[in-house]
Amino acid sequence: MDVPASDIIVPVAPTERIAVVGAGIIGCAIAFELSRRGAAVSVFDGRSLGGGATQASAGILAPYIEAHEGGPLFELTVRGLSAYDRFVRQLRAVSPIPFEYGRPGTLEIAEDAGRARELRARLSARWAASAGLEWLDAERLEALVRCIHTGAVGALLCAVHGYVAAGPFIAAMADAAQRLGARFHLGTAVTGVDLESSGVCVDTAGESTTADRVVLCAGSWTPAIDPLRQTADRIRPVRGQLVRLSAPELRLRHVLWGRSCYIVPWHDGTLLVGATSEDVGFDERTTAEGVRGLLTAAEGLIPDLRSATFVDVRAGLRPATVDELPILGPAGDPRIIYAAGHYRNGVLLAPFTAQLISNYVFDSVIDPAFSAT
Ligand SMILES: Cc1cc2nc3c(=O)[nH]c(=O)nc-3n(C[C@H](O)[C@H](O)[C@H](O)COP(=O)(O)OP(=O)(O)OC[C@H]3O[C@@H](n4cnc5c(N)ncnc54)[C@H](O)[C@@H]3O)c2cc1C
Repeated sequence: MDVPASDIIVPVAPTERIAVVGAGIIGCAIAFELSRRGAAVSVFDGRSLGGGATQASAGILAPYIEAHEGGPLFELTVRGLSAYDRFVRQLRAVSPIPFEYGRPGTLEIAEDAGRARELRARLSARWAASAGLEWLDAERLEALVRCIHTGAVGALLCAVHGYVAAGPFIAAMADAAQRLGARFHLGTAVTGVDLESSGVCVDTAGESTTADRVVLCAGSWTPAIDPLRQTADRIRPVRGQLVRLSAPELRLRHVLWGRSCYIVPWHDGTLLVGATSEDVGFDERTTAEGVRGLLTAAEGLIPDLRSATFVDVRAGLRPATVDELPILGPAGDPRIIYAAGHYRNGVLLAPFTAQLISNYVFDSVIDPAFSAT
């Protein structure tokens, strides 16, 4: 296979020693991208790979649903989606670990005429053509999704949307980063980050590591290890629960989005149904109420799910910011770089975030999306 010139790894002298705090999807994407460009990367995480919000993620890549009303989040997430194909190609060129990534589109289901009107209004948005928007009436919807609730009056198809399996995806990123020289210290919580004349010291229970720069991407926990206190009071956890069912007989292909839940179908016949949104601090438990609500919402969309096999339930803490935008870039001291607060869109924004951070580290590019100060 011909590899495009832009995908060839160009090693540079590993002069930059970079510590990455947090091995969620943001930390792993950054570790891969920085290693690919020649930095000497060390990643620290108090848990296993992706053990924070990332393990609970549904993996949906849907900027035109998440931020369709325009504004900076819309611009950012659209840029995020457009970074995906290339990142996936670069990753697959380095790591053999397989992961499911597809762009089959999303279907936003209209449960009644009012919702149909709201959804159809988007067809006149300036971005409708680039998003591949198309209105499907009830008949066309039923032809695509035979098991859909009979009351559904139609759906908005967004053809460019997709999904990625977050767990295997970050396993591939970590593998690729390590093949390129990165070192992962899992089960190693960072207890403090100190700025010193020799560099930045990253303290763990066992030892202290000195780096030229540190990227803080500890999700909801970032304020606890932020030496400049730039993230204090700016990031808070929002719990999300999500259930996994198995129903291969339904042969779903598209991500379905209803008023009260979404459903992501995987090749193995399992489905993710998400997600709750709860202000419960750092409580990562799954609850009876959360599961009940999700199952009821899923059955409202697809009644046949009543007889699906229940596989498991997961919970994660989304790192939320007040304006729902991630905190990115340097602030106060160029040696401390922020990449945290991706809230509902961390999976969608991971490749693009990694690209922005690496453009800053290697080329001093300050992107307009940088908002750390
Ligand atoms: C139910 C649910 C569904 C979601 N669905 C989607 C979706 O469909 N699409 C999408 O784009 N996004 C989705 N999200 C959001 C997405 O999962 C998050 O935005 C993303 O995972 C954030 O990644 P992160 O790496 O910043 O944080 P995390 O994944 O939380 O990773 C932070 C890491 O930092 C580590 N850490 C914390 N403190 C320390 C310390 N002191 N020392 C060392 N390590 C530390 C933690 O152990 C953790 O591994 C969903 C989230 C939830 C909860």
